[in-house]
Amino acid sequence: MGTEPSKASVGYEDTPFLPNSSYRVHDGTRPQPRIVDPGMPTSAAGSGRAPTDAVVLFDGTDLSDWIGNEGAPAPWRVENGYMEVLPRSGNIRTREDFGDCQLHVEFCCPAEVRGDSQGRGNSGVFLMARYEIQVLDCYENPTYPDGTTGAIYGQCPPLVNACRPPGHWQTYDIIWIGPRFTNGAVTRPARVTVLLNGVLLHHDREIIGGTTHKNLPVYEEHPPAGPLMLQDHGDLVRFRNIWYRPLRGYDE
Ligand code: MG
Repeated sequence: MGTEPSKASVGYEDTPFLPNSSYRVHDGTRPQPRIVDPGMPTSAAGSGRAPTDAVVLFDGTDLSDWIGNEGAPAPWRVENGYMEVLPRSGNIRTREDFGDCQLHVEFCCPAEVRGDSQGRGNSGVFLMARYEIQVLDCYENPTYPDGTTGAIYGQCPPLVNACRPPGHWQTYDIIWIGPRFTNGAVTRPARVTVLLNGVLLHHDREIIGGTTHKNLPVYEEHPPAGPLMLQDHGDLVRFRNIWYRPLRGYDE
């Protein structure tokens, strides 16, 4: 019934053009990522223990390694081995700062589907509390491609849409090489590789600046290490089994 909504309807037509691109920030006419079924995990219990040289940021028991607004204890709920966003309580971030890394995060968007486009299962994994890899329920839920699951938000869509259905646990494996600055200017942009459920979304992709909404990303100088931040976007997204391995030797 009715007419098919135009692709532009999920995005914006009044935003700036991205550098070296014919697409605007959050352009709804940008091609949607091709859908790939990632298969199912061999165990519903998750991917198991972290590697022996990993720093565990959340093992399912408590949020002692995390803080909320203005350094207060992180207010999100913890139960059954996962944390869940407490809507409108604010983003949470790790106490620890770190730089180049291999990061593992598992997330689950609500089984009860509510909302659409950016309003369905929205959260985010912010490297250095500034650069968002989007968390969203994009299973049969179109949105602007640079805001879909695994997008470098507002910059670059993922290669494919490898989402599992809502209510299923999903994995991000992220290799992050942070930006380098000299005298306030970025001298080497950040680069990121992202796999969703074992399927490649970005390989060594350049980050063009800090995450913004409806604006061009720009770099602002910051220390070489920063916290990991998880986003409260008002949806009951869950996280578990979060760890990273520091990577050294990428300063050249
Ligand atoms: Mg988000």
